[in-house]
Amino acid sequence: MNEPEENTNQGTLYLVATPIGNLGDISRRACQVLEEVEVVACEDTRRTGKLLELLGLQAKRLLIANEHTESSIGPTVVDLLAQGKDVALVSDAGTPAISDPGERLVKHVVANEHQVSVVPGPSAAVAAVTLSGFPTKRWAMEGFLPRKGQERSVQLKAIGLADRTTVIFESPKRLGKTLSDLAAACGPDRPAAVMRELTKLHEESVRGTLAELRERFSGDVKGETVIVVSAAEAQEVSDETIINALEEELAKGTKTSGAVTQVSIALGVQRNRVYALAHQKLE
Ligand code: SAM
Repeated sequence: MNEPEENTNQGTLYLVATPIGNLGDISRRACQVLEEVEVVACEDTRRTGKLLELLGLQAKRLLIANEHTESSIGPTVVDLLAQGKDVALVSDAGTPAISDPGERLVKHVVANEHQVSVVPGPSAAVAAVTLSGFPTKRWAMEGFLPRKGQERSVQLKAIGLADRTTVIFESPKRLGKTLSDLAAACGPDRPAAVMRELTKLHEESVRGTLAELRERFSGDVKGETVIVVSAAEAQEVSDETIINALEEELAKGTKTSGAVTQVSIALGVQRNRVYALAHQKLE
């Protein structure tokens, strides 16, 4: 096995992904690391204890790293690493630091110049976007939306305008309300998907418009859910808009080829279309 480069005799903090439902998704390397490290830091010792038991693994010691303790355990973890002991961080499910504790601990460990490594694996966000069938070339992970207020409306508005696929975590209780707010922000006809209970027995992927999904999930929903919203459709840019933009750019003294480039980037249209219009209409 290729291990990350060792930093003298210091320990490494391993960020270890664990299954989001299906135990079979644990990696061999995750098992190996969880058994070998001195301490496994976890959100909930009972939950991680159960996972280790199901996997037939013995961890040396568990330490609580939840949203309340994540900052305060930083110095303990750094001490262990300084003594040459390895530490693993796991969350209740999926990849640590993705809408889960991890970010602050990593920051602290990095600031103290200790090594951090990752044992990648399941994450509900990646699972949902890959399954959605929407473009995956560019996508944004919004995590959980703010529950209310201006922060929520600003984020919903941004999702409405986003030119890339958006992934949102949501609890089953709030799913209906969030689908309803998304339909208002993105328009009821925007294609979207709800992925429920991924990798579990009752896994379900429901695709439709936001209005259809709002209707479908308006009642009692069970299990864990992720919403994937497709990008806003690119607005058709008229020849007139391109010519006006070219004229503005040329009026600034920009040369034709520079103006063509600027306008094609600014309006997101093919350069040869702008070039042709520049030569047909403006010469
Ligand atoms: N760090 C985790 C990850 O990488 O998957 C995510 C943690 S976040 C606290 C939990 C949210 O992930 C849930 O509310 C749900 O939106 C989503 N989730 C987790 N497991 C899921 C599953 N099996 N199916 C669908 N969504 C899931």
